[in-house]
Amino acid sequence: MQIIRNIDLIKEKIKQTSRTVGFVPTMGALHLGHISLIQKAREQNDIVVVSIFVNPMQFGENEDLSTYPKKEKADIEASKRAGCDILFLPSKEDIYNNNDDIKIKSPNTRGHILEGFSRPTHFDGVMHILTKFFNIINPTKAYFGKKDAQQLILVKQLVQDLFFDIDIVECETIREKDGLALSSRNVYLNEKTRKKALNISKSLSIAYTKIQQGHLKRDYLINAMKSILEDIEIDYIETIDRNMKQIDSIEIRNSIILIAVIIDNKRYIDNLWV
Ligand code: AMP
Repeated sequence: MQIIRNIDLIKEKIKQTSRTVGFVPTMGALHLGHISLIQKAREQNDIVVVSIFVNPMQFGENEDLSTYPKKEKADIEASKRAGCDILFLPSKEDIYNNNDDIKIKSPNTRGHILEGFSRPTHFDGVMHILTKFFNIINPTKAYFGKKDAQQLILVKQLVQDLFFDIDIVECETIREKDGLALSSRNVYLNEKTRKKALNISKSLSIAYTKIQQGHLKRDYLINAMKSILEDIEIDYIETIDRNMKQIDSIEIRNSIILIAVIIDNKRYIDNLWV
């Protein structure tokens, strides 16, 4: 595995190849969720590029940019083991070298509801950095987790609207044995707060059971979920279709239940695709 920090160098390296390139953008502190994306990219492409970049532009002022977990050494080892060929570790200065007068923005409505409502500049930052990375790496396929459902839907819109010739590959959410979705932010949890966080996935399991029993109404499902979330600050629970339109009733194979909570000032999100 080659580690490249320089933008011109990685562009040059990729330009030289006519082979397929699978790209996995991450913010590091890699866990088995990230690894599953890298492994999928390994299976489906000749060359696998993983980026690690904690993008300041997608963090709001009061968010956890300064404390976001960093584990470069472990990440290098984990990427290598998972089958990465090129690990791209650009600096903030190189990525934002000219103040970025031109900015890519997230769509007006879809970028500013749910996560985008609570984090008003978040998806602008995500769309902006991915546009840069897509232009640098020029991948054949790029891999995104369904755990960040709204991000995934917006990335698909980004490649469609800006005519990027990139296949976006949706990857399943990887969980701990007890159901907790893996997240770099899980390192903030202690024994007590982890128990609270576990109720996020448990609430989605309750919704899943209710749906199997034929309960499809949004309000019913949300109330059922809330029954085990009494001691957690809920930011939102919502039912949407795969185009991100809010729905009053679950449409099987076309719906997502999204949940975001705050525990100890940190956001945790999860979802169920039904
Ligand atoms: P992040 O480093 O949090 O920006 O995540 C990088 C990529 O990994 C995104 O496409 C996420 O959706 C994906 N990802 C994060 N957590 C998981 C998980 N538990 N399972 C699968 N993919 C994940």
